Amino acid sequence: MTQTRVSSLHPRATRRRTLRSAGEIAAAGLVSPDRVEEIAAVAQRYAVAITPTLADLIDPMDPADPIARQFVPDGRELDAQPAERADPIGDDTHAPLKGIVHRYPDRLLLTPILHCPVYCRFCFRRERVGGEDAVLGDADLAAAIDYIRNHEEIWEVVITGGDPLMLPAARLSRILRELDAIAHVKVVRIHSRIPISDPDRIDDALLAALDIETTLWLAVHCNHPRELAEPAVAALGRLARQGIPLVGQTVLLKGVNDDPAVMEALMRAMVANRIKPYYLHHLDLAQGTDHFRTSIAEGQAIMRYLRGRVSGLCQPYYVLDIPGGYGKAPIGPLYLQDDVVEDWQGNHHRYPPDD
Ligand SMILES: *Cc1c(COP(=O)(O)O)cnc(C)c1O
Ligand code: SF4
Repeated sequence: MTQTRVSSLHPRATRRRTLRSAGEIAAAGLVSPDRVEEIAAVAQRYAVAITPTLADLIDPMDPADPIARQFVPDGRELDAQPAERADPIGDDTHAPLKGIVHRYPDRLLLTPILHCPVYCRFCFRRERVGGEDAVLGDADLAAAIDYIRNHEEIWEVVITGGDPLMLPAARLSRILRELDAIAHVKVVRIHSRIPISDPDRIDDALLAALDIETTLWLAVHCNHPRELAEPAVAALGRLARQGIPLVGQTVLLKGVNDDPAVMEALMRAMVANRIKPYYLHHLDLAQGTDHFRTSIAEGQAIMRYLRGRVSGLCQPYYVLDIPGGYGKAPIGPLYLQDDVVEDWQGNHHRYPPDD
């Protein structure tokens, strides 16, 4: 489906509305009317939103569309598995105060907002995002900033959510300027899906808010090469031209990017758009996400395929966030075992060599 066809059918005013209910998703033609009840049941339990930018990318004729699969609710989300949990990566075990997760000595997470323009159906914070009370109030925010100010070992502040670029530019600007004034904070990193999910938000006011003295990195969440369509490419260009380094975060998802050729196309598209792939996340054990889960062996096979074919710039780390709050670990594959090393073509060599 082309964007042109959609725009010619709908005037801009209606086209730009985010879809937030089963009825709206069906009315937009993204699912057949017989799925309304199924989707309404999921929407009772989890936040639902599909932005026009992403709706435009969905091909409603394709029952396996990888964009629809990520954002259109599915009845299977209500089938939680025994191994799945409400707090899949143990954020609660390292939360000294509201809006802070402090797991590693030198860096912490600041979560000023738990809303997103779009709700990914596999989100690891799905029990938290989109609810009431999802914005950190002034007093809590001041306490969080005080915590960072009082912990001189904090070298990097990772602002995440939710999607922090959803904050009004003035509020984001205030937070960034307060961090800017803390001498021991050398790096601010923002994690966002907005360049993909709602690229029009990357406007002059937001770019001005991001223009701080402290080095600012942006980690962009991107799972399929088709997400990097023209509006996203333009938004990424605006960020990059302002000198903001971009890194990519991808979640390994069955039926979205568990095909090696799709993953290769995604990594190439990211690097071609100035995004350095950083992490390929093994899917966390969030509730109702089993239909997205691959095995770790499948993830390692995809990593091996990439190693054998694409530029080093296109290689992410494949990581698992260990349930219980133990942090992230790279999960291979390994190319050196005992004294044998594997090359990019899969051949094995003794190291040091015998001859
Ligand atoms: C993922 C995460 C970070 C950042 O980890 P990096 O490996 O530096 O990207 C920091 N704190 C918490 C609590 C995290 O979950
Ligand atoms: S954008 Fe991030 S925080 Fe928001 S729903 Fe998607 S994965 Fe979750």
